[in-house]
Amino acid sequence: MTDGTTRREFLGTLAAVSLFPFEQEKPDLILHNGHVVTMNSAEPVAEAVAISRGRFFAVGKNADVMNLAASGVRKIDLGGKTVLPGFIDAHSHPAAAGLSHLRMVDCDLRSISAIQAALRERAAKTPAGEWVLGFKYDDTKTDDGRPLSIADLDAAVPDHPVHIEHRGGHTVYANSLGLRKAGIDEKTPDPPGGKIDHDPATGKLGGRVAESAQAFFERAIPQNFTRDDHRDGVKLISKMLARTGITSATEAQGTPLDLQAYQDARDSGDLLFRAYCFINYRFIDSMIEAGVRTGLGDEWVRVGAMKMVCDGSISERTARLSVPYEGRPNDYGILVMTEEELYTHGRKAHIAGWQIGTHANGDVGIDTTLRVYERLQKENPRHDPRFRLEHCTVINDGLIARIKALGAIPTPFSTYVYYHGEKMRYYGAERLNHMFALRSFLDAGIRATQASDYPPGEFIPMMALQSEVTRTDTKGNVWGPKQKITVEEAVRVGTINGAYASYEENLKGSIETGKLADLVVLGRDPFKENPSTLVTIPVERTMAGGRWTFES
Ligand SMILES: [Zn+2]
Repeated sequence: MTDGTTRREFLGTLAAVSLFPFEQEKPDLILHNGHVVTMNSAEPVAEAVAISRGRFFAVGKNADVMNLAASGVRKIDLGGKTVLPGFIDAHSHPAAAGLSHLRMVDCDLRSISAIQAALRERAAKTPAGEWVLGFKYDDTKTDDGRPLSIADLDAAVPDHPVHIEHRGGHTVYANSLGLRKAGIDEKTPDPPGGKIDHDPATGKLGGRVAESAQAFFERAIPQNFTRDDHRDGVKLISKMLARTGITSATEAQGTPLDLQAYQDARDSGDLLFRAYCFINYRFIDSMIEAGVRTGLGDEWVRVGAMKMVCDGSISERTARLSVPYEGRPNDYGILVMTEEELYTHGRKAHIAGWQIGTHANGDVGIDTTLRVYERLQKENPRHDPRFRLEHCTVINDGLIARIKALGAIPTPFSTYVYYHGEKMRYYGAERLNHMFALRSFLDAGIRATQASDYPPGEFIPMMALQSEVTRTDTKGNVWGPKQKITVEEAVRVGTINGAYASYEENLKGSIETGKLADLVVLGRDPFKENPSTLVTIPVERTMAGGRWTFES
């Protein structure tokens, strides 16, 4: 289209195509001959999209969109491939994970001896006296049938302090030197909300430290990351997320340093996903003082909710439950912050206009958190506060009704059933029908999201789809079949619902004229795929803001 008159005439004939109101603009890219599943109910399926300045300029039938092609416009024939909106991971820890991948030993290995070998190798390259750090250790994923012990770590690395994070993030494992450097000995009492393991027979330290007791190590391990390191961590994790089709992620435990790292990565062109950066409650006073609140930022880096933590973890079996863990009759899990603490910090943030996101896994944790939210809203009613329940794993009908009444947003683990199947027996078959409860949430009209919680969970969106649709783990065990949802629902949960959770449903989450051009091109159609192989669907390309962030 070269002259304005022709263009206007042409636009007059357009019925099936909707246009963004910048008529003088030309698209700079057209993707055509695709199976575009838009998640826009007004136009659920399209064949082509035109993109201009990082946004969808037109969405519609091939012929109509191709008619917009002025000379010089790039055109890509999708060959019938399926296109979905870019995936939104509503709860993840990308900044910290990126730094960990840069610096730490990846302990996602299948035997204790393999972990020992990896630690030994790192120790050989580490100056004497400096920490050897590991992450993504999972006690249920080694073939040994037992967790790492202090003896394993002492044998592998006697001369350096060792600190290994469980991938769940709520427990750590240290060798003798590590415990000593952290100031922990056999007489050290458990701090409130924390636990230091001892051998029940001898009283000697076991090497495992849980929940708030991890603070001993936070004080002892020097945080010698440079500003560039933080940016490089975001750069590294950006590439990892982009290749799976993720275009947005919530940073669920953000600090001012993370916020800076995202901005630095954006400025250097290395940020490949849109970051909604939560701020941990410990930093909230200075943020409020500076006049900052949820929503500040732009479409790439935005200040998210204030983050608090009510109870423990699902993968490490410390979530606070009303009915004890299977086979552990006295173990109800851990409450990390008291209701009064949640209320005190929550009140400040709520009044200052912040969204609040509270980690609440067990039914007792969720009940406590809801009580705090209900009180905040009763005392200081705010329009559309979109309270978030991070994870919101173990539910019941009463909790569902209160979540609905409050308009709160649960962010359940998307990949746990598939990936963490071996942990499900601690919860039992009956309870699993009330966990990661997407069917219950959607039936109640609650806008739950897709969320990996990486590193604790895998972040691959196609794995999330398979996990949510089949409720089946890698060994073929079915966990909580009553919570199965359809592929269409799972895609909705992973796209437009994620956008809603960050107040950005008018900006992204569907392929719609005027919205940000965030999309993923898949190698096969998930709507025609056998649900048990969804995870194997390859991502061919990912686009964020009109730019390819990944091409296979
Ligand atoms: Zn988390």
